[in-house]
Amino acid sequence: MLIVNIGQVYTGWMERPTSPADSIRIEDGMIAAVGQGLTGPGPVIDAGGCAVMPGLIDNHVHPAFGDWTPRQSQLGWIESGVHGGVTSMVSAGEVHVPGRPRDAVGVRALSIAAQRCFENFRPLGAKVLAGAPVPERGMGRDDYLEMSRAGVRWLGEIGLGTVRDEDEVIRHAGWAREMGLNSMIHCGGPSIAGSNLMGAAVVCAADADIVAHINGGPTCLPAEQLIKVIEGTSRAIEIVHNGNMNAARYVVLQLIERGLLDRLVVGTDSPAGSGVQPLGMLRMVVFLCGLMETGRAIAAATGNVAKWRGLQGGMVEAGLAADLVFIDAPMGGGGTTAEQAMAWGNLPGIGMVIIDGQIRVSGRSRNTPPAIRAPQIIETGGAE
Ligand SMILES: [Zn+2]
Repeated sequence: MLIVNIGQVYTGWMERPTSPADSIRIEDGMIAAVGQGLTGPGPVIDAGGCAVMPGLIDNHVHPAFGDWTPRQSQLGWIESGVHGGVTSMVSAGEVHVPGRPRDAVGVRALSIAAQRCFENFRPLGAKVLAGAPVPERGMGRDDYLEMSRAGVRWLGEIGLGTVRDEDEVIRHAGWAREMGLNSMIHCGGPSIAGSNLMGAAVVCAADADIVAHINGGPTCLPAEQLIKVIEGTSRAIEIVHNGNMNAARYVVLQLIERGLLDRLVVGTDSPAGSGVQPLGMLRMVVFLCGLMETGRAIAAATGNVAKWRGLQGGMVEAGLAADLVFIDAPMGGGGTTAEQAMAWGNLPGIGMVIIDGQIRVSGRSRNTPPAIRAPQIIETGGAE
């Protein structure tokens, strides 16, 4: 497959967020080349001048099983997310599973089952990276070892369960790191799923890979504690849609001032008490566009997430999965490009979503406003 006539390629890379490329070649579900005037056999998609960005990676979701949210009884939230430009989502713990177990055996079993189920279940092609155990008292090093051997790669939010004191938080985060599980810690006030208040001191002590929702999930710590977290940790800082947006703005400005945008990652924290917002990730990107250039805002929701989560993807680069989203200015918003629209605060229109080289949303997204321009399949290609 060949994509031509791209108006703007956003790379997903914070260091160099845009590329002069106008075409992308896809082979076997992977990006084979990104360049100017590329040619090749197979179907051709004329981007019609639209911008192309990497598929958004939601760094913070709480899936259950299937494409269903028990707390909100909503169906199809994952598919709706794909229509909002999300191609991958990382579990922060399957905490809304009704009656979720809290004993060590049950936690292990749930995380392994969730990991297995979502490896086999790809709603509209979405990659749900699930199976994130929530640390509970009674779990030990052997539990982490067994889960790691079974293929569990993520640790759900520390602090969502019974593990909350500094010494035990440090122990669990340490076991996770030793066993190769990427970890995150709840930051802020108690959440609806039963988490504890996790303040700056314990968040810093944990040294988890991700400080989850520094802007609250949904209750945010006071400003002075946010500064302590930013200065007292060295890894990823996450802002989420289901949090305090005033605090998100405050944190992002602090990161910009300190030259720390490489640490910024974006998630939604859905589905939760705040519900599901299918455009949550896109709305976060547009929110960031008010504070930084468009390409960097996109990078915080793509390449940065991939980097901190150890994922192969999140960027428009040869050798990575062809997860691509076509965006353009919506009609009536004043701008003529996605960049102009987003800088003004409008959501772009999504015209196509490709996951692993397959077109998953063709024509208009069911959730975004109509765009001025849309990509079109102009040649189905002959035998290769
Ligand atoms: Zn949380």
